[in-house]
Amino acid sequence: MSDRLPGFSTLAVHAGAQPDPTTGARATPIYQTTSFVFNDADHAASLFGLQAFGNIYTRIGNPTNAVLEERVAALEGGTAALAVASGHAAQVVVLQQLLQPGDEFIAARKLYGGSINQFAHAFKSFGWNVVWADPDDVASFERAVTPRTKAIFIESIANPAGSITDIEAISTVARKAGVPLIVDNTLASPYLIRPIDHGADIVVHSLTKFLGGHGNSLGGIIVDAGTFDWSAGGKYPMLSEPRPEYHGIRLQETFGNFAFAIACRVLGLRDLGPALSPFNAFMILTGIETLPLRMQKHCDNAKAVAEFLAGHPAVSAVNYAGLASDKYNQLARKYAPKGAGAVFTFSLKGGYDAGVNLVSKLQLFSHLANVGDTRSLVIHPASTTHSQLDDAAKIKSGAGPDVVRLSIGIEDKEDLIADLEQALGA
Ligand SMILES: *Cc1c(COP(=O)(O)O)cnc(C)c1O
Repeated sequence: MSDRLPGFSTLAVHAGAQPDPTTGARATPIYQTTSFVFNDADHAASLFGLQAFGNIYTRIGNPTNAVLEERVAALEGGTAALAVASGHAAQVVVLQQLLQPGDEFIAARKLYGGSINQFAHAFKSFGWNVVWADPDDVASFERAVTPRTKAIFIESIANPAGSITDIEAISTVARKAGVPLIVDNTLASPYLIRPIDHGADIVVHSLTKFLGGHGNSLGGIIVDAGTFDWSAGGKYPMLSEPRPEYHGIRLQETFGNFAFAIACRVLGLRDLGPALSPFNAFMILTGIETLPLRMQKHCDNAKAVAEFLAGHPAVSAVNYAGLASDKYNQLARKYAPKGAGAVFTFSLKGGYDAGVNLVSKLQLFSHLANVGDTRSLVIHPASTTHSQLDDAAKIKSGAGPDVVRLSIGIEDKEDLIADLEQALGA
């Protein structure tokens, strides 16, 4: 046996999976069952009391989902992971372990639009208060810290313009404040950026996007870096205090450097209920096997398309961190040297009407609200996802009337450029 540690592509294919011990099946089977038979009464009691690991009921855990969890934990360099029904479910389960009513968390202002809604409106009804900071201004995070701050939340590559966040600088602020840094790594995937290597304590994903990669299955995941001391300062009672629903055990004391992943499972997923279907776990696992190949092609295509657009007379600006002239190019070189992702925006000289016109003329690009598909996607935020905002608010969130967002797929780049050329020219 070689003592070499497996590389990223090997982990993407193999981590967490073994031939099925009963049947020899080589692909991970879909364990399409709600529940699992106990060996005997003692076994059942020890599973319920968290004294033994094992399967009880698919809302709490499932063997297909377990392979997905182990694989993503390995790719991100974490100690453990928990798969859930969607990216949004991952966010609510994470914050439920950290915040009590009246607490605050600091979030970067540049985020996926759905996360802005979830944080500003849905979480308010739980008594969780979001405080916004500017990801381009690290000091704005420092200024936002109060005694009620329980976490900081950022995206590694941020929506909608594909800007790159200085994870290390913000992790220093989090460490000083004594709170965990949560990084949404959806647009980068661990192939491009591994936030834990840069100081993240928790990583979340919408598996719906590049990890699943084929635009066919929703899913989300939470990765525990195992780096945070939950008992310090009594700030995190869900982790440090005796749990009445589990015979008074303390999760941090019992589970050490994967206590956060356990809390998300046995207090979050068990009680809130957003379980991932084993069928979706199977689809997403299959997608992850080709993640390194797909991500490289996504990035190479995106760079070629961004360069084409930057030279087109109908285009006034291109925001792609992979371009040497871009404001985020320095950060892209540091954090994402293999490529700056495949989601970016550009602006049209013709404004709102030109944006609507372009979207209607494109043929190979699909006009829809998603990113991270094998297929190339386009949306005009001002007339769709951001249409409810006034013009000033649209511009502030990077969705001005002239802005078009692309998610570049893995087709031939010449075909993508030809489609854009005919739609821009016509
Ligand atoms: C899509 C997305 C989410 C939400 O994920 P769902 O799977 O749609 O719930 C969160 N963050 C980012 C960056 C996303 O792109």
